[in-house]
Amino acid sequence: SSPFSEQLECKICLTRFSEDDEDLVPRVLTGCGHTLCQKCVVKLMKKSNGFRFQCPFDRQSTSSGAVQSLPKNRAVIDMLRELKETESTENPAIYEDPDVPCFENKNHEATCFCITCKEDFCQNCFDSTHSSKIFSTHQSIPLLEKPCEIPKCPIHEENEIRYFCTDDECASSTKEFCDECLLAKHKSHWYENIETRIKKNEEVLQDAVKNLKERETKMLQSSDAIIKCLSTFDDKEEVISQKRKAIESHFDNMKRETVEKFDNWLTGRKKNLEFKKENMQNSLKVLTATRREIEKTLLKKGSVFNVKELIEKSKRSVDSDIKASTLPYNNYIVPDDMSQEPYPKNSSNV
Ligand SMILES: [Zn+2]
Ligand SMILES: [Zn+2]
Ligand SMILES: [Zn+2]
Ligand SMILES: [Zn+2]
Ligand SMILES: [Zn+2]
Ligand SMILES: [Zn+2]
Repeated sequence: SSPFSEQLECKICLTRFSEDDEDLVPRVLTGCGHTLCQKCVVKLMKKSNGFRFQCPFDRQSTSSGAVQSLPKNRAVIDMLRELKETESTENPAIYEDPDVPCFENKNHEATCFCITCKEDFCQNCFDSTHSSKIFSTHQSIPLLEKPCEIPKCPIHEENEIRYFCTDDECASSTKEFCDECLLAKHKSHWYENIETRIKKNEEVLQDAVKNLKERETKMLQSSDAIIKCLSTFDDKEEVISQKRKAIESHFDNMKRETVEKFDNWLTGRKKNLEFKKENMQNSLKVLTATRREIEKTLLKKGSVFNVKELIEKSKRSVDSDIKASTLPYNNYIVPDDMSQEPYPKNSSNV
């Protein structure tokens, strides 16, 4: 417990004084000035069995009698009241593991330092513990401005450390040293005043904190931006489901068009061959008729002297085109996506 809470409890039973509980009213022993709770005073009076009883701390005697005749400790009662007020109005945040624990409560984050008490406090506890007149002269400073505690020299325990060795050649394992070391272990070494060094280091560290904080802010922003960006790729977004439908319909159309292209090509091929077949059969009929007419003429030996017309007919029939393409389907290369017309195998694709 702290000096403040100690002031507020009976030093015999270690219970906190109270204005409301009769047993715990702080009573001043008039013989010596010590303050005890009423219950403990009554016990002492009963034990003494006389007109006076002894203070257990300094053996000074105080007259026995009505306990109410002993004065109440007003200062303690005032402190109790003030503490009750601040405790009921403000509740400092509770931390599992504060960076610097508050002297009054190790689960408070300390923010200031009392120069007089030489302890760290959270603002709440500083205010409540220093509200009474006794402590009102104490000064608090922000924790960051708290002076650094300079330990004693590891070699000369009675001396304070005053310097820090900055010499590259120094073989000593301890770099901080006192006036005596200056003439011995660190003689003619380069050194720095320890306070200057602390100040410099603090500045460097504060700079580092500042830089890290800036970086932190930027990283937080980046992280936020990433999260925000990520959410735009969510499956549930309207634009995304629209795009998915668009892709599906695009390929549905393409599939339909591709099959259509194939069917058209197939139909084209069939029509072309149909037409050629028709043509060929007609030409064949004409040719056969011409041949038979010529044969008949030869057999009848009739007008063999006038055959000009027959010869022309025969020539026309022989000249007629009989070179039709008869490449079977299997000899075509048909691209699955119909990105180009099917073309004959083993020929340059045109
Ligand atoms: Zn007591
Ligand atoms: Zn006493
Ligand atoms: Zn203080
Ligand atoms: Zn506190
Ligand atoms: Zn030393
Ligand atoms: Zn040195």
